[in-house]
Amino acid sequence: MGGSEGELTAAAPGGQVRVVNLSFTPVEEVFRTELRAWLREHVPGGAPAAPSLADEVRELRAWQRTLHGGGWVGIHWPRAYGGRGASAVEHYILQEELAAARAPEVLNRIGVNLVGPTLIAHGTEEQKRRFLPPILPADELWCQLFSEPGAGSDLTALRTRAEPTTGGWLVSGQKVWTSYAQFARWGILLARTDSAAPKAKGLGFFICDMEAPGVTVRPLRQMTGSEEFNEVFLDAVFVPRAQLVGAEHEGWAIASTTLAHERGTSPRQLVIHRMLLDDLLRLARDGVEGVAPRRRDPVIRQRVAQHFIEVEITRLNNWRTLSRLARREPLGPESSFVKLFWSEMSQRMHDTLMDLLGPRGLCWQAGPHAVAGGRLARSYLYYRAATLFAGTSEIQRNILADRVLGLPRAR
Ligand SMILES: Cc1cc2nc3c(=O)[nH]c(=O)nc-3n(C[C@H](O)[C@H](O)[C@H](O)COP(=O)(O)OP(=O)(O)OC[C@H]3O[C@@H](n4cnc5c(N)ncnc54)[C@H](O)[C@@H]3O)c2cc1C
Repeated sequence: MGGSEGELTAAAPGGQVRVVNLSFTPVEEVFRTELRAWLREHVPGGAPAAPSLADEVRELRAWQRTLHGGGWVGIHWPRAYGGRGASAVEHYILQEELAAARAPEVLNRIGVNLVGPTLIAHGTEEQKRRFLPPILPADELWCQLFSEPGAGSDLTALRTRAEPTTGGWLVSGQKVWTSYAQFARWGILLARTDSAAPKAKGLGFFICDMEAPGVTVRPLRQMTGSEEFNEVFLDAVFVPRAQLVGAEHEGWAIASTTLAHERGTSPRQLVIHRMLLDDLLRLARDGVEGVAPRRRDPVIRQRVAQHFIEVEITRLNNWRTLSRLARREPLGPESSFVKLFWSEMSQRMHDTLMDLLGPRGLCWQAGPHAVAGGRLARSYLYYRAATLFAGTSEIQRNILADRVLGLPRAR
């Protein structure tokens, strides 16, 4: 992407002309071809056998090592730290092809996608040399210790304290919704370093040793039956000075880098929802054992057609974002639109899925009445979270109202 061929031009509000480039360059096409060939040979076949979350983590760790061996993990990182210095478009293509090949997700997502880029931008050379290399092969997993019981959307209201002590800080407080904390070796941690300063001013960004005395991790069971989430209690946990990232009270600026990497484009979600659309079409047209076809039902026909339109809109939105990245423009608040649109589309699609499955939709575990081994019903349960993580829908709408539409703030 980035050449002039195949561009689509449209009048935007305010008379500006926006250009969306819809073509990949020959170099990008070669990259895609090589990647596809590698994936054909290496993606593990069949559904994962993992009977427990710990087994799943073991299998995913092995997969990440294989992927790393092929040079496909953290390709957007600079070469000096084990990446390929790949462009945003190549990173996008990688995500797209991994999802299309139904390859498992990378286990150390927080490490690769959030911690890596944050340390590369703000870490000391010593921090980069110590912490970056074990991230790519999943030798050391990471978690994100940001949210608290009273601070999610309004993250700067967090109350975990970091009190100075000889050689570092003692950190006390409670974190929640910490994905994979029970497997993590390290966590990126936001804590208050100056309680007298205004909310976003007195925060520090730390690297927390999850094996340090005073760290207690308590898993939370979700409605999918899994326990990816945790509560994390920090009781006078010592964090040495060498594990502060950036300046003592200026952690919010660093956290903003982490949060910006959490949104952006969503190629994986695009492909997953294209596949979901195929599932919906097949179910509506042909049904499966115990689920009658609904191809003549006018309401289902309208809904599936609407889903098709929305998946196409998601594709175009992704490409618009990608065009910006290819031109090295910042993502800007428009990335909120991408996140808002795909997450709400996902829930509409899953609602149709449940209507089609009827009572079979209740069977989310493998068993005689489960459709596709319960995969579709589990997907419905999982995607209830899509409008919460990486910023809720209400927060995305606030950002769009404020920073894109220029509406006055509600009092
Ligand atoms: C699958 C998943 C994984 C996660 N993993 C992690 C993790 O690893 N580490 C981590 O730190 N956090 C994690 N989170 C937490 C996530 O970031 C928070 O759930 C999210 O920021 C919302 O915060 P909250 O749950 O405290 O809800 P709240 O902020 O309490 O919001 C409650 C409701 O009020 C609404 N609301 C709040 N403020 C406003 C406002 N100003 N205007 C309008 N409406 C408003 C919200 O939209 C929401 O509907 C994860 C969440 C999920 C779902």
